[in-house]
Amino acid sequence: MAFYVQKYGGTSVGSTERIKNVARRVARFYNQGHQIIVVVSAMSGETNRLITLAHEVQESPDPRELDVMVSTGEQVSIALLAMALKALNVKAKSYTGSQVKILTDSAFTKARILDIESNHIRADLDNGYVVIVAGFQGIDEKGNITTLGRGGSDTTGVALAAALKADECQIYTDVDGIYTTDPRVVPEARRLASITFEEMLEMASLGSKVLQIRSVEFAGKYKVKLRVLSSFEEEGEGTLITFEEDGNMEQPVISGIAFNRDEAKITVLGVPDHPGVAYQILGPVADVNIDVDMIIQNVSHDDLTDFSFTVHRNDFKKTMNIIREKIQPHIGARDVIGGDRIAKVSVVGVGMRSHAGIASEMFRVLAEEGINIQMIATSEIKVSVVVDEKYMELAVRVLHKAFNLEQAL
Ligand code: ASP
Ligand code: MG
Repeated sequence: MAFYVQKYGGTSVGSTERIKNVARRVARFYNQGHQIIVVVSAMSGETNRLITLAHEVQESPDPRELDVMVSTGEQVSIALLAMALKALNVKAKSYTGSQVKILTDSAFTKARILDIESNHIRADLDNGYVVIVAGFQGIDEKGNITTLGRGGSDTTGVALAAALKADECQIYTDVDGIYTTDPRVVPEARRLASITFEEMLEMASLGSKVLQIRSVEFAGKYKVKLRVLSSFEEEGEGTLITFEEDGNMEQPVISGIAFNRDEAKITVLGVPDHPGVAYQILGPVADVNIDVDMIIQNVSHDDLTDFSFTVHRNDFKKTMNIIREKIQPHIGARDVIGGDRIAKVSVVGVGMRSHAGIASEMFRVLAEEGINIQMIATSEIKVSVVVDEKYMELAVRVLHKAFNLEQAL
């Protein structure tokens, strides 16, 4: 007998028919004698619908009230799933985040979990109930309803698995695992049997958005065994997210190719090269909460240097304005240029730590296709390049092939 936390996302509970399917799957595990906590999202589209309603009434909706409202989506799902299970003669009980008492801080719309009361859930499990918990929501110290940020049900699942020491947290979704890259770009992309937490974080933050990043961080921190599986297929092992030390098999050097079309680049030309300039450029950008991803500064000539960085595409215009109006005149830079038709392509793999030459191989492959590299950044387990957006898919395809990702291990 095992103890699983199973999380089903919005598409998996998108209709009453699908909720009945989830109930059948849960019932199957239950009848095999496993203990199960089910975490569900709102039915697909519901959270967006509620947010739209709020915006019709108030231009920027009050965050406390927004949380009161959007948390209702998950409340509907838990009740329907509990009914569907009862219809199959499975003992089931649903709980909202506040009924469980998933205690969070008071940062409405992006709250963090502080503590989970587990005693009564534990008692329910021991009394033979399937426990169903609303994802994405909690309650703060003062009793206000809070939510955990978009995609937050993943984090609810992982947090419950950590708090109650489940054997595994299974995330059921509309894909059957984590792939070497997006199969829509490379049809030969292959499902990975396992991937390390660190690789997963790089892949996720680079645009392979299967899990909420915070849930992966959480699982890494609390050593929760996390598995991504399809909720539409009966069989399948999905992808297990592992710790590097667990992987006693020979790791492939590269696990995947990630890409991201959401960035824009800005270059400040002819920047005086003296202490404090990087801060003078990026300080005002940080002050308005714009996240900066890649940053590059060149060696200076005649005490002048060029300074480039990337931001989310949605922040491009705003950032350009800040730099042009406030920063360029202030620091006496020659010019500011930028573009938002770029894409970032990255090769990711923990095997890079012990293998030289990955970056040069990547650059060789891109050169052979005549793809110009505009920016380069590296970490211990990834090499990222910025290229013209129109070459992105080609770059992903040739790199996927060059690093032999389509072959079975
Ligand atoms: N329903 C929430 C959302 O759409 C939370 C989740 O699905 O994980 O973001
Ligand atoms: Mg999701």
